[in-house]
Amino acid sequence: MIAEFISVGTEILLGNIVNTNANYLAVKCAELGISNYYQVSVGDNEERLIQTLKLALSRSDIVILTGGLGPTQDDLTKEVTAKVLQRKLIEDPHTKERITGFFKGRNLKEVTENNWKQALIIEGSTVVDNNNGTAPGLIIQTEEGREKTSGQTPYGNKVVVLLPGPPNELIPMFEKNIAPFLGKLQPGIFYSEMVKICGVGESKAETMIQDLMAGQTNPTIATYAKNGEVHLRVTAAAKNTKEGKLLVKPIVDELKKRFMTMIYTTNEKENLEDVVVSFMARHHIMLTTAESCTGGLIAGRIVNVPGASAVLGEGFITYSNEAKQKYLKVKEQTLKDYGAVSKETAAEMAFGAAAVSGSNASLAVTGIAGPDGGTKEKPVGLVYIACTLNGKLSVKEYKLNGSRQKNRDYTVIYALDLLRNTIMEEYGT
Ligand code: ATP
Ligand code: MG
Repeated sequence: MIAEFISVGTEILLGNIVNTNANYLAVKCAELGISNYYQVSVGDNEERLIQTLKLALSRSDIVILTGGLGPTQDDLTKEVTAKVLQRKLIEDPHTKERITGFFKGRNLKEVTENNWKQALIIEGSTVVDNNNGTAPGLIIQTEEGREKTSGQTPYGNKVVVLLPGPPNELIPMFEKNIAPFLGKLQPGIFYSEMVKICGVGESKAETMIQDLMAGQTNPTIATYAKNGEVHLRVTAAAKNTKEGKLLVKPIVDELKKRFMTMIYTTNEKENLEDVVVSFMARHHIMLTTAESCTGGLIAGRIVNVPGASAVLGEGFITYSNEAKQKYLKVKEQTLKDYGAVSKETAAEMAFGAAAVSGSNASLAVTGIAGPDGGTKEKPVGLVYIACTLNGKLSVKEYKLNGSRQKNRDYTVIYALDLLRNTIMEEYGT
């Protein structure tokens, strides 16, 4: 089954609001095993809304419209839908009563005349109560009960769902009524697993699995690049979760063979910092961070993880040369000879951090985040990351080419990944 979303509202086209409804519906339909091929945004304009709805009905099985169900003149989703489906608008006594109750319950003033517009429903539709607002949702199955309605529908057997625009109204209605309804229409599910990789770019990752991706039908592999990481989603259309797992397993096993330790997790909910913290906890590692260009972001990521206090005792932000000398005992001569952004300085920062704190691991970064401060020898994006574990050092050089923010975000990921790899080399897992 193919679903199409029509987000109605000029404010979306003007960029005044972000279309979070379409994003929400996309996630939900994917969970329900319903394909989504099209997401359209259209303004509060009758003619363009008619054209958009007609096109959607011609190519999709389920059309979900959001927004434009309010009481005002520019809210015309329901009127347009009735017109396109050639059905009448009729007053729904139940909704009228609910609206009266809604106003009473909130001690609002008199119901204004235009509020009764919201008690009108499309003939033959199923009303979905809105517990957080006045506009009801509507479900119309074009073939069902057609003989009882006034018109014919030239679009075949389609489902049209109308939902109010405000997310605090739409989401509870979808969860309670729409999802169970759609779930019955679409037997089967999409089952997916996520393989998260660090240490390889998206294009390299794709070339490593080109043969698996070529001609794939079920399951499919989709790649997503995410600030220094690559996520591979393996998705199978299946009758149930058990069958989905069986279909996905051989592909995930093959990905494990190819990417080996570059894979840091296959658990969708787990982040790199979660893995690093659990590695450290398992091996009783106490970390101290020493950050220059990341300004505390690495420590911040680690502290994101509940239980981080067991593995992180302190962190230094040593942005200036003076701070690197004062807190981490970086030698003046090293800074003079090699500069603050150098392998040598990174190494001294890491050793210094471990020494002054007495911890058995340290992570230090120094780099040029940009946009200024680069030279020919040391361009913007040059970053050194040093890690010590039980007195052993590893230092890595990176040449990043993003914005200031991106360079800093990538550095955090690469630093956490260097620590992860260092722990694996030292302890085996
Ligand atoms: P109302 O009764 O509030 O007028 P409505 O169903 O007519 O509701 P709209 O008028 O289109 O909906 O939008 C009302 C508000 O809902 C918008 O100002 C916006 O805050 C939110 N909204 C509408 N559409 C979306 C969307 N696609 N994504 C996120 N928020 C939305
Ligand atoms: Mg409105």
